Amino acid sequence: MTPRNFPGMQGFSFNEPALFEKSSPGRQAYSLPLLDVPPAKVSELFAPELLQKKAPLLPELSELDVIRHYTRLSQWNYSIDTGFYPLGSCTMKYNPKVNEEVAKMAGFAKTHPLQPSESVQGVLQVMFELQTYLAEISGMDALTLQPAAGAHGEFTGLLMIRAYHTAQGNPRKKILIPDTAHGTNPASAALCNYQVVEIKSGKEGVLTPEAVAALMDDEVAALMLTNPNTLGLFEKNIAEIAKIVHAKGGLVYCDGANLNALLGQARVGDMGVDVLHFNLHKTFTTPHGGGGPGAGPVAVKKHLEAFLPIPLLAKKEGKYFLEEKRPQSVGKVRSFYGNFGMLLRAYTYIREMGPEGLKQVSEMAVLNANYIKTRLKDYYHLPYEGICMHECIFSDKRQQENGVKTMDIAKRLMDYGFHPPTVYFPLVVHGALMIEPTETESLETLDEFCEAMIAIAQECQTNPDKVRAAPHISHWSRLDEVRAVRQPRLTWSPPQTEEEISKKQTQRKLEF
Ligand SMILES: *Cc1c(COP(=O)(O)O)cnc(C)c1O
Repeated sequence: MTPRNFPGMQGFSFNEPALFEKSSPGRQAYSLPLLDVPPAKVSELFAPELLQKKAPLLPELSELDVIRHYTRLSQWNYSIDTGFYPLGSCTMKYNPKVNEEVAKMAGFAKTHPLQPSESVQGVLQVMFELQTYLAEISGMDALTLQPAAGAHGEFTGLLMIRAYHTAQGNPRKKILIPDTAHGTNPASAALCNYQVVEIKSGKEGVLTPEAVAALMDDEVAALMLTNPNTLGLFEKNIAEIAKIVHAKGGLVYCDGANLNALLGQARVGDMGVDVLHFNLHKTFTTPHGGGGPGAGPVAVKKHLEAFLPIPLLAKKEGKYFLEEKRPQSVGKVRSFYGNFGMLLRAYTYIREMGPEGLKQVSEMAVLNANYIKTRLKDYYHLPYEGICMHECIFSDKRQQENGVKTMDIAKRLMDYGFHPPTVYFPLVVHGALMIEPTETESLETLDEFCEAMIAIAQECQTNPDKVRAAPHISHWSRLDEVRAVRQPRLTWSPPQTEEEISKKQTQRKLEF
């Protein structure tokens, strides 16, 4: 198999210099009409300390230069609308465009968050019904839609857990978290002032009741687990484990980021879970990525309802309203209603799919992951045998024999036109490659992806150097992955000396 030819990927792929490098003296992107009032002196309008001594270094460009620059940069992006995006744990499924149509409707898009409740009954009704649907899907009792992301939901859920224990007289000290957990879990626990205690998963990749019982005491506020866990395995001992935690007065928090595997099949609330967050931007097709707006609603059982954030959306005598006076509430976690646009998209998706459609989602998501797992298991090491849920995990153990690592495989996939899967996570699998196909991909796409993965496995034997030097047909090859984080450059400094730039720039005299 040869790398795929995406339109534009080879023939019309432009390199794009920075705007400053394209600057040409005197060129400008605007033309203003002549002044029809007497000119004013800048120095009369502003205090002297506000005035710059030197003209700012700005690139000089035409409108067309600017449009092409940003349009080209936008085409360097890879997105779910461009191609397959098998990023494990992220559920990069297709976001139906009907969601966008509904989100654009003026009655929703043009409401103002400060409008009185009576004038936004439709908006509140959508939110209220979404709460009802999510409660039914999860088997939980009450919800807040406010948190803006999964991690924000975790934080909110743990705040409620702390408030619950505090109301019982002791906030407790510890949160138990399995070694397979997403990094946000311990981070959220630490933010809520809890000490994180790691639990080792058993040989099968899931928690054992014994391991939980050994760590459970009356200083444990909660067990925080993900189901299915980040190995793509169902925590089959959850009901028994929940009993052990409850017997010592602890609570069970479920990270619901992997709900795509359970939709319509099983309800987290029936498994002994007290608090659950959803990732609407994963399971319910609202856009995500790029740090854009997400939504992480949190659902609780009755005994935690009093602690939900304010305002709480309620319905009385056919009218929807926002309840602010709730003495035991953890308070506000987000301005106004949360990310309403995301809530609306998730509502649209649920209405569009219906109960049968949602069931099909999880069936197809699990089937697709098992298909990939089965097609690739003769080529890549599979650390956990057996049926997986919505994602499958391989490692680079076999390719390491030829000196090829997970990162090399991921980079080589880009040459074949695929976004790489999640790499080196979960941490318990050395050199992990975590593939989550989701339900929205066709058999043809899954096959093309598997064929690319198989071709790479063969290259690892016949030409490992080529894999190690990948990617070969991207704008940039290997970037320093951590430098931007470790040594952030938060101000722009020109690539050339000021002198060079000023040669490229019209000499504007600063006349005050
Ligand atoms: C994505 C994810 C999170 C965090 O969700 P964000 O919306 O990115 O904050 C937490 N846990 C798991 C298992 C996840 O996959």
